[in-house]
Amino acid sequence: MLRFLTHPNEDPDLAREYPKGTKIYGRKGTKYSRICATTTGHFKRCALDGCTGARVRVVWPDGQVRWLCTKGLSDGPRKGTYRLD
Ligand SMILES: [Zn+2]
Repeated sequence: MLRFLTHPNEDPDLAREYPKGTKIYGRKGTKYSRICATTTGHFKRCALDGCTGARVRVVWPDGQVRWLCTKGLSDGPRKGTYRLD
């Protein structure tokens, strides 16, 4: 895999999978399940030991900024959306 030979911000696959404005919903079965964060189009490598994922920068409706690991996301309720596992 050629992935991440460059900085994740330059990775075309990440940009295609998580374009700016992508909605990421909270965990199913929690009070956050219908709340969604919005991606900002910024990425970095996941620093978790052994993880090959990237972190995608999101902003929650209350203004909190988080970097979510792509390995912890699954498909969301609508096409092009994701959900925290
Ligand atoms: Zn990770």
